[in-house]
Amino acid sequence: MAQLELKKNTMTKRTTSEIMLLILSALSAVLILPFVYLRYTNGDTIVAFIDAFIVLILISFFIFVYKTRKLELAKLFLAIFLATAIATVVIIRGQPHLYWLYPAIIAFYYILPERTAGIICLFAITIISVQIFPADSLIDFITIVISLLLTSVFSYMIFSNYRITNEKLALLATIDPLTLSGNRRALEHKLTDILADQQRQASTVSLLLLDLDFFKKINDQYGHATGDKVLVEVAGLMKNHTRALDALFRYGGEEFIIVPLKVSLAEARKIAEKLRTLIEQHHFVNEIPLTVSIGVAEYRLDESAEAWIARADAALYLAKETGRNRVVLETDVTATNAT
Ligand code: GH3
Ligand code: MG
Ligand code: MG
Repeated sequence: MAQLELKKNTMTKRTTSEIMLLILSALSAVLILPFVYLRYTNGDTIVAFIDAFIVLILISFFIFVYKTRKLELAKLFLAIFLATAIATVVIIRGQPHLYWLYPAIIAFYYILPERTAGIICLFAITIISVQIFPADSLIDFITIVISLLLTSVFSYMIFSNYRITNEKLALLATIDPLTLSGNRRALEHKLTDILADQQRQASTVSLLLLDLDFFKKINDQYGHATGDKVLVEVAGLMKNHTRALDALFRYGGEEFIIVPLKVSLAEARKIAEKLRTLIEQHHFVNEIPLTVSIGVAEYRLDESAEAWIARADAALYLAKETGRNRVVLETDVTATNAT
């Protein structure tokens, strides 16, 4: 059985979005900094002061994200702050400064959910439009307003498309294409979450490791395609039966894991027994008789996911050894070894 590699450093690893935000804020601070000097030497003390303030906020933002990693709050604050800063500079110094709003709009859509970004953009565009009206000419005014609105609308479309595609890809990357149960990657994530929860607050949680009996014979006798159909059917049965309790993962070829069962070993045995009977009594394609062996293990505090699964695997091995089509608890293994 392949070893399960758990991501051990998920708590320390920074996400792409976090890294992009850090780069974005650092880069903006560095790019705006020369303007502080230029404005100051040009005698425009007020705007120099505002630019310096923006640089200061960007640096604070960088430090805040770097230390606390409270991304959502930081992003919202940054967008509102930047929109306000740009509007303020336009109010004080006039039209040329509104060009900053174009890259800012794109940045808002990049860092925030589309709706939130849309609302912030609409506010900024409205305030700036009122402020610059009537501009040099009505045509100028309309050009500015329409181009700002179009930048916002296009960003909205591009980024919602990007988000939907990302969500689809993320889903695909965690699903086993044949049985539509979670794949190994999804299982790893789930186990990491469960172990983290247990570290925070320990509670009873059990796991079922299921292996179809004599599945190779089904393939040999009926063909691989029919074997696939049986796999799909059995996964569907298990999913329907356990939906409310927990999740189903395809651990290997014809091996599945159900986790987390938030019950004790004795309760988990009852659930496993029900599943075992359900599969034994089910009429599969071509009336193929199918049974399943199940190993059950309860999580022990501070153990690794690998150790937890290994105990379920030892129980499963005993189930196979003692005739298949049965449920064996981890405690039965110790009892057997003792005798
Ligand atoms: P046991 O009761 O000891 O578990 O016997 P078994 O035949 O189920 O065990 P074994 O591990 O020897 O064989 C597992 C078989 O499962 C072999 C492999 O061809 C089949 N298998 C694995 N993945 C798939 C799949 O995606 N589709 C099909 N049709 N068969 C698969
Ligand atoms: Mg197997
Ligand atoms: Mg098998």
